[in-house]
Formats: sequence, C-alpha cells, structure tokens
Amino acid sequence: NRTKRNSTEEFIAKIIAGNITFLSKAITLVESTNSKHQEKANKILEACLPFANKSIRIGITGVPGVGKSTFIEAFGKHLTAQGKKVAVLAVDPSSSVNKGSILGDKTRMEQLVTDKNAFIRPSPSGTSLGGVAQKTRESIILCEAAGFDTILIETVGVGQSETLVHSMVDFFLLLKLAGAGDELQGIKRGIIEMADAIVINKADGENEKNAKIAKVEFNRALHLYPLKESNWQPKVLTASALHHFNIDKIDAMINRYFNLTKENNYFNQKRNEQNKFWLLSTIEQQLKDNFYQNPKIKIALQEEILNLKNKKTTPFNAAKRLLNL
Ligand code: GDP
Repeated sequence: NRTKRNSTEEFIAKIIAGNITFLSKAITLVESTNSKHQEKANKILEACLPFANKSIRIGITGVPGVGKSTFIEAFGKHLTAQGKKVAVLAVDPSSSVNKGSILGDKTRMEQLVTDKNAFIRPSPSGTSLGGVAQKTRESIILCEAAGFDTILIETVGVGQSETLVHSMVDFFLLLKLAGAGDELQGIKRGIIEMADAIVINKADGENEKNAKIAKVEFNRALHLYPLKESNWQPKVLTASALHHFNIDKIDAMINRYFNLTKENNYFNQKRNEQNKFWLLSTIEQQLKDNFYQNPKIKIALQEEILNLKNKKTTPFNAAKRLLNL
C-alpha cells in the first residue's frame, strides 16, 4: 500500500527534521494498542534508531511533593538557556492502575511548556507498569531522533517504577527532603543504591541548615556501598529548585559523570546491557501474554485451580500439564 508507506516515510523524515507535531503523533502511535498503529510505530522506531544515540538520558525520582516538577523546570530551563534541547517524559506507576496520576498534570511546568527547545509529554497509560515503561523507552528513541539531546524521565517512588526507569537511563538522580526521617533508617535501600546522585531539595530558608546536615548523613551512607561499576562515586548536593540554587552545580556534576563514563566506556557498556535487559524482558512478557491469553489455557487453568482446591494435584504437576499444553 503506497499511501501508507509514504506516510511512514513522511513520519520518519519529519521526525528527523525535528518536527514536534510529527514527534507527538509518532508517540501516540507508540502508545496505541491498535495493532496497525503498533506496526507503523515499529517501522518508524527502527528507522529512527540510527539517529537516536547522541543524547544523554537522566532519570529523576522522589516522593510526591519533593519538588520533581519544580526541579525539572529549573534544570530544564538551565539547559535550554545553553542551547540544549530537552525532552521530559514520565513513567507514572499509577497510570497502569487507574486513570488518576501521581505525577499529575505537567502543565505545572509552565515556563518549560512554552519553551521551544523543550518537549514535555505526560506518562503513557497501560495495563502493566512494564508496558508503560516500554512505551516511554520507545518514546526516548523518537525524541532523540527529533534532535533532543537531553532526555529527562520522571518517576515516583514505588520501587518497581524506579527500577524500570533506572534500566532506561544513563544517570539516575534521587530527590530528597531534609528531615523526612528516612535518612538513615527505613531508607529505600534499593533506590539509594541505584542513585548516581542525591539532591536534597528545598535547601532554602529555615530548611537550609537541615539540608546541610542531611547531606553529611547521606554522604556517609553512600560511602558504605562499594564503588560502582562506572567508577563513579555517587554525589550528594543540596539545592533549591524553587530559587534555582545549585542547579548549575548539579549540571556540572552530571557533566563530570558523562565525561568519566564516556571515557571509560561504561556509558556504551551500560546502554548495551540495557538493550539486552529490554530484549529479554520483552520476550518474557510476550511469552506470558501468549500463554495466559490462549483460550485453551484459560479453561485448563481454571480446571487445574479447581483440582488444586480439591487436593487432586500439586501446583508443580498442574503447572507441568499447563505448560505442556
Ligand atoms: P513533585 O510532586 O515532586 O513534582 O513536587 P512539586 O514540584 O510539585 O513541588 C511541590 C511543592 O514544593 C510546590 O508547592 C513547590 O513550589 C514546592 N517546592 C519545590 N521545590 C522547592 C524548593 O526548592 N524550595 C521550596 N521552599 N519549595 C519548593
């Protein structure tokens, strides 16, 4: 079909030329559940891949209210002022559960929204968090092909969403508040371990002193972990997203990270590993979906559940029969 092929080609040409309207439309195709749309999206994605490797990808996480939006706006403006092009994407874990969203309305980033060097896209929705994350990962490629050199990916703390975002970014930044009571105990260890930097936000006014104390404590906690594979010692900084304090220092710190990891090749190595991770997890997901959506399995599964209940079989035997089916 000629018109269709042309329009896919048009998509590709327009995206590579930096056309935002086509970028948005392509992301909508990526997010669509319609199989025709997905097919087209896949063609566009593969064609965009060669143009999608020159950016840096930064994940930003923290509890609701910590100042993610405010920080992204301040940091984003700081970057666009240097002539950089910034895309802001999100992985909202609540978007896989219901229509409500934890990350909320991105029109909060009022200044960045109107910046012609910025592109802001809210979290896709989906039936599973993995699905939501996959769409965001594909959107990264489209944004990069459209010339965005810095991709910021926002997420909010439910553990799994952070792990997923961590597996699609080069640098992972954790926003914290001083005196939230979790500096040393009850700390979400996994998330601290993933962080390449911890920024203690709202270090202004009366909070400034506590922020400095928290910085010392976090620094101490971070030094308990072995040095990362990247050879990067995670940093702790204080900042005020609201008053744009230390935003320049954070930018400089992130630049140092990229200089180091590009030089020691960790940057490429990590991206290759991430690709492998997404390959394997996509296979896993597809196998699972195919299995559970198979009508024969659906019926047999119910029967086996009944058998289990009636103590006629063991979970292992039942599983074996279902898998053989
Ligand atoms: P998010 O839920 O993590 O995206 O947090 P927001 O960016 O929406 O910020 C939550 C509230 O904290 C808002 O009222 C912000 O104005 C405020 N806030 C964000 N950053 C700072 C900061 O650096 N200092 C102060 N004092 N308030 C801030």
